[in-house]
Amino acid sequence: MENKTHSILLYYCYATIEDTEAYREEHHLFCIENNIRGRIIISSEGLNGTVSGLKEDCEKYMAYIQSDARFAKTEFKVELYDKHAFAKIHVRVKPEIVHSSLKHIDPNVKTGKHLEPEEFKKLKDQEDVVILDVRSNYEHELGRFKNAITLDIDNFRDFPEKVKELEHLKNKKVLTYCTGGIKCEKASAYLLEQGFEDVYQLHGGIIKYGLEAGGEDFEGKCYVFDNRIAVDVNKVNPKVISTCHVCGTVSARMVNCANPTCNAHVAICENCGWEMDGACSTSCKEHPEKRPYDGTGYYQKQSNGYNPYKGLQRKPNKEKVN
Ligand SMILES: [Zn+2]
Ligand SMILES: [Zn+2]
Repeated sequence: MENKTHSILLYYCYATIEDTEAYREEHHLFCIENNIRGRIIISSEGLNGTVSGLKEDCEKYMAYIQSDARFAKTEFKVELYDKHAFAKIHVRVKPEIVHSSLKHIDPNVKTGKHLEPEEFKKLKDQEDVVILDVRSNYEHELGRFKNAITLDIDNFRDFPEKVKELEHLKNKKVLTYCTGGIKCEKASAYLLEQGFEDVYQLHGGIIKYGLEAGGEDFEGKCYVFDNRIAVDVNKVNPKVISTCHVCGTVSARMVNCANPTCNAHVAICENCGWEMDGACSTSCKEHPEKRPYDGTGYYQKQSNGYNPYKGLQRKPNKEKVN
């Protein structure tokens, strides 16, 4: 990783988009023309993306988004890398930028108080404070803040249901966090709506906290939604907390199960990885469609004949390309 030619960007912006289809096309075309890859979700409530590209292309991409008055306030988490972190570009229109079952909440109207990484770092150890991880099981099992409260959920849309179990925290200072901050915008708003009095959110999430505050007291790794699968964030007092799904030894090695119909995100140690041929269980190991294991646990979708223009309705206009 000596030659970090690329950037990986993580961002979101809650803002009204009137014509989502037209904007999707424009955005998609920009990505193709500038060799930006990754996953972008466009909705009437805003934008959410994680992308990779050459550093200079990512600079152009950030300028492109921020030059649009609707998204001028967008903040980017920028990490450096030696290659693309995605194989393709997908720009999709969806009902929400994070599937939440909290469609009614507009974080521009109501949300928890934003804490910058350094403020979060100071506040997190205070006596009347509780730290709440709003992410799903496969994420917090791999890494989380020391003393954080985690929820038994497989998907963020189950968050509201679990809030009922947190009644006893209503009079505490609640600090929420997630990967990049987007889930907390609605999660913290929902807590306020449910009568929690003092709710804060880690602005920019774990990623920004790692970049700007050294990641202190984040234990384990942070699950990410690109080819890296998981990243280290703690440069101060790192600790491994996950254990091998097969043999139980301490292991931070995150893989996707080689059985494509399972694809579970689990920690599996180096030895068990080879022994199980990348599968999370014996039945997955014997699955007829099991993918060949190469020691990484990451599987590129078949990209033969991949056409980045797929999904683009309009033909690219040559005149517009500069
Ligand atoms: Zn093992
Ligand atoms: Zn499996």
